Amino acid sequence: MVGVRLEQVTKRFGDVVAVDAVSIEIRSGELFFLLGPSGCGKTTLLRLIAGFYTPDAGRIFFGDREMSRVPPHKRNTGMVFQNYALWPHLTVWENVVYGLDVRKASPSAKKERGMEALRMVRMAEFAERTPNQLSGGQQQRIALARALVIEPDVVLLDEPLSNLDAKLRIEMREEIKRIHEQVGTTMIYVTHDQKEALSMADRMAVLDTGRIAQVGDPRTIYNNPRNALVAGFIGETNFVPGKVSALGDCGLKSPASIEGGLTVDTAMGPIRSEMDGKDFAVGDPVLCSIRPEGMRIGEGDTGNRISGTVSRVMYLGDNEQYFLTLSDGTSVKVVEIGSKARKAELGQQTVVSFGAEDVVVLQAMDNE
Ligand code: ATP
Repeated sequence: MVGVRLEQVTKRFGDVVAVDAVSIEIRSGELFFLLGPSGCGKTTLLRLIAGFYTPDAGRIFFGDREMSRVPPHKRNTGMVFQNYALWPHLTVWENVVYGLDVRKASPSAKKERGMEALRMVRMAEFAERTPNQLSGGQQQRIALARALVIEPDVVLLDEPLSNLDAKLRIEMREEIKRIHEQVGTTMIYVTHDQKEALSMADRMAVLDTGRIAQVGDPRTIYNNPRNALVAGFIGETNFVPGKVSALGDCGLKSPASIEGGLTVDTAMGPIRSEMDGKDFAVGDPVLCSIRPEGMRIGEGDTGNRISGTVSRVMYLGDNEQYFLTLSDGTSVKVVEIGSKARKAELGQQTVVSFGAEDVVVLQAMDNE
């Protein structure tokens, strides 16, 4: 088990810079996610770590050992692919122990480690079947067992759950997390599914056109996104544009004392945030990012209020979603969790309230 360090790694395909001077330090034993929209470079980054691609610039380390030009089979990594990539003509057992055969493991080591890997993924009783006699979820468990059996330093997972149906995906999230906790191996996991990343990751890197937009743990990324791309990509959010009109105590009663804070003038009136205003100046064009679940329909004692007209309501059992159109045409989504009665009707003009602690202010122009 080792950590993985990327130093200013760049990979180009012709004119396309797929990975652009990326530096990340993935800690030993971490379940680390590479996340971002389609084409942001996450698969290319994983392939660079696996050794399928060589960087055009920069260096890759596993622990203290430089791997930038080491061929894939000498990196001691286990790979798990979206399409499972099992050998169809081999049994489950033969698939799992394949890597041990290549490494010329002794028959007793092969038996012991093969069984251990199958037990780890709870598939011991399926050893004699062939892959086409297994469900998608079971095939992915076998792919995972095959990756783990060689006792890799790093496991690389490329969208491993994308081919599974929604319910199984959620089950397998928990299963992979359990396996990670049990084996403790460094795992690097590529996905475009932000819920997968939020629910499983120790930490994650959000990528944007080949660059790192932010690295952090799920709570930090969700609650303190560094820019509009991260805020919009991780979870849903409402953006209200405006300009910073005041810095310092934003004058709200709730929460009781706000150090710092800033006020943003918007077409809907002032919006106050308890964020530290040190990175902003009065007059800066900004976006206020407010999560749908941070907003409430109706007057609250939370300080910020805007009003709009209800254009759509969607009841989903455990929550109810309200879509409002504000006076300047901006659309806002509010999620009321666990409310029994409807809070506003279609076409109704209503007030939406939210706290200064739920407003994240982001630079409108991101020059990073
Ligand atoms: P997706 O989620 O759609 O798989 P991704 O984030 O994994 O996307 P990459 O596959 O890493 O993105 O691609 C990053 C960029 O590099 C894209 O613009 C893509 O078109 C380009 N690219 C990737 N592989 C190649 C290649 N072999 N030849 C040319 N361009 C490539």
